[in-house]
Amino acid sequence: PDTVVCDESFVHKTILVGDSGVGKTSFLVQFDTGKFQHGCFAATVGIGFTTKTVLTPEGSVKLQIWDTAGQERFRSITHAYYRDAHALLLLYDVTSKSSFDNIRAWLAEIKEYAHDDAVIVLIANKADMQSSRVIRREDGERLAAEFSVTFMETSAKNGHNVTHAFQMIATNLRQRQYFPRSKLINITPADDDVPPSNRSSCCGR
Ligand code: GDP
Ligand code: MG
Repeated sequence: PDTVVCDESFVHKTILVGDSGVGKTSFLVQFDTGKFQHGCFAATVGIGFTTKTVLTPEGSVKLQIWDTAGQERFRSITHAYYRDAHALLLLYDVTSKSSFDNIRAWLAEIKEYAHDDAVIVLIANKADMQSSRVIRREDGERLAAEFSVTFMETSAKNGHNVTHAFQMIATNLRQRQYFPRSKLINITPADDDVPPSNRSSCCGR
């Protein structure tokens, strides 16, 4: 058959998108290493991708998670990048109204170019910054409901809901996603993680 159920022998491409500065790189580093590095990531330098196995009640799921950098303006992400994605994490910053207002445009772009069955999670990041918050949880929930996507508030700083977001994606992929075989990435030794030290431009460290 042309399609396969989500299977442990395949890697599911997952991409992080959203405006520059919302915390995409920090979010992925937090998931990957359990650490937060203050304000260190050069805006145009992404960490590439990292491959992680996520455990779900239905079994394990391998995710190849891509950070985007320097592609944060609309229409600057290549269509192929969207087309191959099985899951998308769309982030905004609860302290930035513009990053929230831009979510509609991001969702329109995702709906236009991404696979119809792709899992989409809307992420309200920097939830730890309560005193400078300008976007309420209800605003995010309402927008997510309007577009029928999952919603979660997170903090890449203290780690709140970061692992949970990836577990949600893995569970959704595991439970209900079918993809054409050609869209699944075979695991090869070359897909191994890039060591963290090679990824960031973090303060020269
Ligand atoms: P990107 O451009 O989307 O990759 O965003 P970065 O990961 O480079 O983060 C932008 C800035 O926001 C940096 O100064 C981070 O330290 C900060 N930041 C990212 N996530 C959080 C968070 O959850 N809480 C707080 N307080 N700061 C964050
Ligand atoms: Mg970044």
